[in-house]
Amino acid sequence: MQTLHQPLWQLSQSHLNLLEACPRKFQHRYLDRLESGTGLENNPYQQLGAQFHQLMQQRALGLDIAPLVATDKRLQEWFQAFVQLPPPMIAGVHQSEHQRLCWLHGYVLVAIYDLLIQNADQAQILDWKTYALPRRVDHLRNNWQTRLYLYLLAETSEYDPQQLSMTYWFAAASTQPETTTNFVTFTYNQNWHEQTRRDLTQLLSQLNEGLSGYEAGQAMPQVSFTDGQCVSPRHCCEFAERCQRDLQAEETLALQAALQDIDAIAEVPLNLKHC
Ligand code: SF4
Repeated sequence: MQTLHQPLWQLSQSHLNLLEACPRKFQHRYLDRLESGTGLENNPYQQLGAQFHQLMQQRALGLDIAPLVATDKRLQEWFQAFVQLPPPMIAGVHQSEHQRLCWLHGYVLVAIYDLLIQNADQAQILDWKTYALPRRVDHLRNNWQTRLYLYLLAETSEYDPQQLSMTYWFAAASTQPETTTNFVTFTYNQNWHEQTRRDLTQLLSQLNEGLSGYEAGQAMPQVSFTDGQCVSPRHCCEFAERCQRDLQAEETLALQAALQDIDAIAEVPLNLKHC
């Protein structure tokens, strides 16, 4: 196991989501620096998503976006969808790709907003997604992107939490005729802010423990086999083999568990003659 070459001191929503989902995956990705094969260069759809963000930034800066829009039909559709069905936006000053940072428990938390709009009474974070509206809005609310972005804005501005909101706009939802909405807005409040601070404190404390253990030669915790994140018929974590959590291992374990159940049943005495 490698030692830490440099302190991990800056944490984004991606770090927090991964750490919460599976500390061992966090270790493989950010401490062992293993290639996952899921980078932007290997995913054409993500590349297109990055181009859409670039397009929206250029638009916000008043630059000519026609050459970029012309490079791909889906970029054209998404941009057209934004022109025709934009999300509700407050009036105010627009800042694109705006970064906020704050220190917490020895770490720097960082967020880059696709768009931040501010006026005297309110501030709104906007985030562009190039996929369809997710079915579970509560998952989006609990995602660290939502929680961290709102937390950072509250911590680094004069606004009260209830003056802040975050809106996700879904480009692909806008191009589907059966879709009734293409955005989700979360309004922040003081209770949510305090809960996020507690959640962050707990997660960073777990990270401290994990990092101390890692530097002492202990691997960070894995999720349980039954968690569903390692392998399933439709999904395989890119580190499943390294974690010895491939499908075959899962099936072997399931078979062993089933055999144990059968053994247990066989050991139950059958007093049929007294019935
Ligand atoms: S295989 Fe499972 S335990 Fe290992 S990194 Fe992936 S999700 Fe975590």
